[in-house]
Amino acid sequence: MHRVTQATLAIACLTALCAGSANSSVVRANDDELVPSGKGWGERPAPGPGPGQGAGQGKGDAPGQGKPKPSGNGISYHGGKLILGTTKIYYIWYGNWAGNDAPTILTDLAQNIGNSAYYNINTTYYDGSNNHVANSVAYAGSTTDAYSRGTSLSDSAIQGVVSDAISQGRVPKDTNAVYFVLTSKDVTASSGFCTQYCGWHTHGTIGGLDIKYSFVGNPDRCPSACAAQTIGPNNNAGADGMASIIAHELEEAVTDPDLNAWYDTRGQENADKCAWTFGSTTTWPSGAKSNMKLGNRNFLIQQNWVNANGGYCAKAY
Ligand SMILES: [Zn+2]
Repeated sequence: MHRVTQATLAIACLTALCAGSANSSVVRANDDELVPSGKGWGERPAPGPGPGQGAGQGKGDAPGQGKPKPSGNGISYHGGKLILGTTKIYYIWYGNWAGNDAPTILTDLAQNIGNSAYYNINTTYYDGSNNHVANSVAYAGSTTDAYSRGTSLSDSAIQGVVSDAISQGRVPKDTNAVYFVLTSKDVTASSGFCTQYCGWHTHGTIGGLDIKYSFVGNPDRCPSACAAQTIGPNNNAGADGMASIIAHELEEAVTDPDLNAWYDTRGQENADKCAWTFGSTTTWPSGAKSNMKLGNRNFLIQQNWVNANGGYCAKAY
């Protein structure tokens, strides 16, 4: 999902509630990642710059559009940029992750999601010059942040966490990247983690450049809202839940980095259209379910929308 401002979020919620959805369980709006009731319907009334996002990016709909270009696949291109070529992932581990193997599990995810049949779904998205998203992702590094902004992060604090990491040289400044702020269980996001969303992505001007970033909280804080299962395939329910949310935010950030590229008439981005659906799964002796293998690990990762053949949710393309 995508959030721009709290105001947008609130409006989005109303929109979702009023509009209802094919999924009768919808209650929440803006986000994406809320289970079980909110099965992830991210709504947003219209693309556009939010006041908090800085003039640097605030171009609203990119030039040349005016009218969305329907693909015939249930999702439309609105003229904005996509992330092309190899997309880099940076992790910012916020809070206290000591004794938790989430960094190992989620680094493996970042190192192996590129070139997968799953990520290949994103190659069905393209820009106005027919440049398609590449099935290429590189894990490019990480840093830590030991509570620089406390345990309840506002949206602007989250951007500040990213901005600090970049300006202090702990991670490079890279416009072809998505920076993930990953918070430990004792940390919340005050605009609605666990109640309105489990994660989101947006962009902002940092160091004069348009930087794409995402918040993903630890579902251990609220498993019934943000984890699909209480036992994960990697024996870390929080990290296993985060894997699905990271994948969701990554594919949205790549196909709609500035919130003005690919989304449907209801404001749903590609992953929103398939949020909390997993396709066929395997159940392991522990009881954990998984639906794909990336590298050497099994994961349970939500499906994504294929922008081809009429459009459909899938876990591979
Ligand atoms: Zn989403």
